[in-house]
Amino acid sequence: MPTLRELTAEEVSVLAGVIAKARPYGAPRWQAAGIRATFAKVAHLDATDVLMAALRLSQDRTANTPAQIAIPSSECWREKLADPVEVHKPYVRGHTCGVCGYPEADCRMRWEGDHEFEQMGSVPKASKDEAHEVVVELKNHLKPMNEGETA
Ligand SMILES: [Zn+2]
Repeated sequence: MPTLRELTAEEVSVLAGVIAKARPYGAPRWQAAGIRATFAKVAHLDATDVLMAALRLSQDRTANTPAQIAIPSSECWREKLADPVEVHKPYVRGHTCGVCGYPEADCRMRWEGDHEFEQMGSVPKASKDEAHEVVVELKNHLKPMNEGETA
């Protein structure tokens, strides 16, 4: 990005005019000449940064003059933070409760005494054991045939 100094006088003049016109209705007016004077003080800085600061300050009704544009430590030089956006936690199957749908930590905190955290998609222990029993039974049943002992 070019510095303000690298812009032509005409470009700076047009930008100052735009900033002057950007003042909200009813707010103290700024003279384009005054804006150009503040631009000159920060002409060595990135033109985009200066313009962003100038535009931010231009929307501040309480700013009687454009002087703060020339002060990079002032509020108008800071990027305005967006409204907080709700962060969606990624769905992690192993750590999501199958009962309440909350992540494990939240489930344990919110539902203490209501229900135990139960990993979503987990196979209940009982049926796991049952399945194991069936497998053992089948193996025992097939054993004689595997060894060639026909009934
Ligand atoms: Zn839960």
